Amino acid sequence: MRVFKFGGASVKDPKSVRNVAEIIKHQHDTGPLVIVLSAMGKTTNALELLCAMFMERNKTSMMAIFDQLKTSHLQVAKGLFSDPNHPVFSVLEQSFYQLYYYITEEPGNNYNYEYDRIVSTGEMVSTQILSAYLKEIGLHNYLFNAQKLVITDANFRDARVDWIMSTRNIREKLLPFLTNIEEPILPPLVITQGFIGGTTQGFTTTLGREGSDFTAAIIAYALDASEVVIWKDVAGLLNADPKILRNTLLLNNISYQEAIELAYYGATVIHPKTLKPLLSKNIPLRVKSFEQPNKAGSLINQNETYDNLVPSYIFKYNQVLVSIFPMDFSFIAEENLSRIFADFARHGVRMNLMQNSAISFSACFDRDKTKTPALLKDLKKNFHVKHNSNLELVTVRHYGKANIDELVRGREVLLEQKSRTTLQLVVKNDASTSCK
Ligand code: ASP
Ligand code: MG
Repeated sequence: MRVFKFGGASVKDPKSVRNVAEIIKHQHDTGPLVIVLSAMGKTTNALELLCAMFMERNKTSMMAIFDQLKTSHLQVAKGLFSDPNHPVFSVLEQSFYQLYYYITEEPGNNYNYEYDRIVSTGEMVSTQILSAYLKEIGLHNYLFNAQKLVITDANFRDARVDWIMSTRNIREKLLPFLTNIEEPILPPLVITQGFIGGTTQGFTTTLGREGSDFTAAIIAYALDASEVVIWKDVAGLLNADPKILRNTLLLNNISYQEAIELAYYGATVIHPKTLKPLLSKNIPLRVKSFEQPNKAGSLINQNETYDNLVPSYIFKYNQVLVSIFPMDFSFIAEENLSRIFADFARHGVRMNLMQNSAISFSACFDRDKTKTPALLKDLKKNFHVKHNSNLELVTVRHYGKANIDELVRGREVLLEQKSRTTLQLVVKNDASTSCK
């Protein structure tokens, strides 16, 4: 049994939906499949905006977004189903009516609750369209509501999964379908929404942006799947963002640990939460291109053999480097460090890199409009503080064969840190500023 996850870009228009159906059709005869689907194209962003307008009681803008979303989904359906009386149209009408009905009421004051209620519509309607289309081309399938599969707490917008309940639920609900041998002809096919969960009280929750990868991992974990495939608009995992570096290389095979490290340092291809459940059950993860489904893509499994074959580059921009000095003659030791860490933790600022000497502590972190000034203000109560803004943090995994000069291009390096596997550089660029 395998789990496939398709992202928003893979179902953005009728042509893309047909392509996804084609992939499923070709891969499906090898055994049962669970399909996890995101919202179509940029639907989640639009629904986020709709929710913001709802909360602001800006009816005009809210209804404009609603109309646009409804039209674009019906447009995709029209491109796929030639019969205007096809039942999918009334299913979609009903889903949009439920949303319409909800947003014409008064908003409550819990933004995150309203967000999950509204934004989850994107995945509900995308799965309705795909499920109906697969049936249309002869691929019988079962559409399951993920709210009843992935059980979470009520921490809306970033809900935490109840692993025991979710595992039990997913097995109880999906296994009877996936192991149904009475269904002849083709192996069973199940479809569900990524990103969405539900509480035991029946409230809708979401798992955080880009959470559909995580849903695929949760389901694979619960069902002891043989493999997860994430279908993307890139060839697989690359050793750098092709928008930043030319001549990127495909990572054919890396270990779970390496993928977790890459995600930790800021590589964005896979949602970081996805890897741990797969690692714990040793379920391989493939990242493949939906545009070139016959290419192998990248494989993430236990094999560490190829982890250090090529250097990987991760770039983070808009970084702040802060240097902190005790006001008295004390050294940077446990007491000062614990104060510094307490300030960072209180303001929710995560350090991307840290280093200390006898009399100073330096840390690099993402600049944030509100958090950064508040943190600096608090640090200054107990320490002398200097900081530079608008810096670049370059992380190079397996830097042995990397061309560092090309990365730095004569720019000033403010801080450099090396472990056996990882090199990190904090680099100034034209826009950098410093402040005492
Ligand atoms: N649709 C959600 C988002 O865009 C979840 C996902 O795509 O993974 O964040
Ligand atoms: Mg997405």
